[in-house]
Amino acid sequence: MHEVSLIQALLDMVNKSAAENGVTKVNLVKLVVGEMHGAVPDALEFAFEVLTEGTVCAGAKLEVEKKLFLFRCDECGREFNPTGLSRRCPGCRTNVTTLVAGRELYVDYYEGD
Ligand SMILES: [Zn+2]
Repeated sequence: MHEVSLIQALLDMVNKSAAENGVTKVNLVKLVVGEMHGAVPDALEFAFEVLTEGTVCAGAKLEVEKKLFLFRCDECGREFNPTGLSRRCPGCRTNVTTLVAGRELYVDYYEGD
């Protein structure tokens, strides 16, 4: 399951940071996950529960903020969420656009004691 490796990578960061900061119990973990990763919220939740067992994150609440794909038009500067597979600017119809959001994968913050 794809979500397991996502969660594992993020938990490695939290566990390392918690150890460095003397945190012995993590209560909340907030993740930001871009649409590009195609992660299913329920699967993330499940992976989180399984992988936190026996760690400082055991029993912590998981919050996931999903970032939708967002493109910016290089011609007119308009920002837009693409429809389907098209990344054409809805303003000037050019194809010259840049992905500005949707690739995120990081721990926004965590709370612990
Ligand atoms: Zn445009």
